[in-house]
Amino acid sequence: MSPAYSNATLRERIVELVGDVSGLSPSSIDPNANFFSLGLNSLMFMQIRDRIERELGVELAVSQFTNDVSTLVKLTGYLEERLALVPSSESQPPPVPDRSDQTGRTGETSLDLSSLSGLDTLFRRQLDVLERQNEILLSAFLNGGGAAPAPSRPAPAPPGKAYVPFKAIVTSRSSGVAQEHVEALARLLGEKCKSTKDLTQKHRRVFGNNRAIAGFRPDWKEMVYPLIAARADGSRIWDPDGNEYIDLTMGFGVALFGHNPAFVMEAIRAELANGMPLGPLSPLAGEVAELIAELTGVERVAFFNSGTEAVMVALRLARTVTGRARVAIFSGSFHGSFDGILAIRGAGGRTLPMLPGSPAGIVADVIVLDYDDPASLDYVAAHGGELAAVLVEPVQSRHVEIQPRDFLHRLRELTAASGTALIFDEVITGFRIHPGGAQARFDVRADIVTYGKIIGGGLPIGIVAGRAEFIDAVDGGMWQYGDESYPAKKNTFVSGTFCHHPLAMAAARAVLLHLRREGPKLQEDLNQRTAAFVTRMADLFRDRSWPIRIACFGSLFRMDLMPDHELLYYHLLDKGVYVWEGRNCFLSTAHSDGDIEAIETAIRASAEAIERAGLFHH
Ligand code: PLP
Repeated sequence: MSPAYSNATLRERIVELVGDVSGLSPSSIDPNANFFSLGLNSLMFMQIRDRIERELGVELAVSQFTNDVSTLVKLTGYLEERLALVPSSESQPPPVPDRSDQTGRTGETSLDLSSLSGLDTLFRRQLDVLERQNEILLSAFLNGGGAAPAPSRPAPAPPGKAYVPFKAIVTSRSSGVAQEHVEALARLLGEKCKSTKDLTQKHRRVFGNNRAIAGFRPDWKEMVYPLIAARADGSRIWDPDGNEYIDLTMGFGVALFGHNPAFVMEAIRAELANGMPLGPLSPLAGEVAELIAELTGVERVAFFNSGTEAVMVALRLARTVTGRARVAIFSGSFHGSFDGILAIRGAGGRTLPMLPGSPAGIVADVIVLDYDDPASLDYVAAHGGELAAVLVEPVQSRHVEIQPRDFLHRLRELTAASGTALIFDEVITGFRIHPGGAQARFDVRADIVTYGKIIGGGLPIGIVAGRAEFIDAVDGGMWQYGDESYPAKKNTFVSGTFCHHPLAMAAARAVLLHLRREGPKLQEDLNQRTAAFVTRMADLFRDRSWPIRIACFGSLFRMDLMPDHELLYYHLLDKGVYVWEGRNCFLSTAHSDGDIEAIETAIRASAEAIERAGLFHH
């Protein structure tokens, strides 16, 4: 495609585009500043790349933004050259509107790029390392200096501090990795997990599979394959080669009672014999709704198929009932893959879509605040009247050490005062931290609550529950036969072929009856055993000066490692302990004390192997 640009308009367009994607005002962009130092990150590079390709037909690699197009000057020069607008030697910095207003200087520069190339390379490497750490280093390292989040004023915090689910694929090697050590480990695992690796490769061409690139790094690409499980039981899984592993992933937190619990399997088997009718409703759905209401204290319950769908519907209900469009979410949280919440706060404080393929408009009414930050409360106090909802993951699964009881209470007060729906996303915390979830744990009642995972007993499920005022938007609210009543509340559209699936209803009923029978002691015991394990591990890491942090919330725990130390998980696999690439770990009631001891031994031995390879003190 040949652009209709002169080089002056091209430069203006590029400044505009970078401003648009980063959220920076064009006048604040120093044309010679490295993009990283301006607060841009790899997600933004992808968006700039895509838009340049779309508008100008020039292809760029994301890695070039840390390389030959790492500043506005370099980027425009490169594009001018590719579009043959001017020879590269004539490339000028792009015009920067209003720069003189702000700095008293004009935007002119006479930078000799060649004289800077050595320094630039060094700087780029350092930024490269910092960026990678930023993406992967977890909360305790990252949540040091919270920044004012209000989108109506500039947000000083650079983006990328908190967990972001979508990451650019790492394509460059790191200098810090002990290559011999990695190769030896890859050989061991390659033999052990031969069938997993062979199957992954065999089907890659046809099977589009994001999991197969999770954690991809050129340094250890030979070990990048999601483990295949042929079978699971209790706390264990077996791969197709017959290797047995203690599972710490437990179905991403689904399997609270271990894999294959008899009381759930029997219920599914019995229901399977009934033929799984869809269309007519399952006779169990109403009872499941009643049981959820009993255990959690919600007034009404509606069924969907995944946590993602539940979050999407929860926001739709909140917007329907309040008549408002805007919603606030918190950085570092994870709510699944609905485009409408996959947003980041740009360098200038504006909300930007997180993903390639998400248009800006889809998050135009989303505001990204910092979690457990008083400035976020100030924002809700000032703007609550404009907000349909505040969506909260009460304890973020990627930042489990932040358990902000007071913040949640304050949010409750503020949202109640402004008529804003407080939505708790309890897809992980629900039924795990307590039978009544985080609402019970923190003694805060949300307006809408989403559940998933555990409650489906291993089958797909998503639930939107809460106060009748909001759930009534599903069906118009209460009415009865034999009088003039009708569904009088304002409702919106929801649907789904598989909602109230008979197998999911049967499994959910079995889970709920089990939870009711066991009472809160089930969670209390498991939470206490997890806390004791995590304390022992934290003591070990401190005593040995290993740079690993560990924290838990109930039976969810997470280790925070530097990016190169992720090798620990490959050692764990070799030693028979499985953790998926997202690294959230879960203990279940099926994990015995012997399992926990074996996990401790494997973690200790894995960390020692990394220490011996010189990686901890590299
Ligand atoms: N919300 C939270 C807190 C989650 O942890 C998840 C998934 O892990 C989701 C929503 C999305 O659920 P699903 O994967 O079922 O779509």
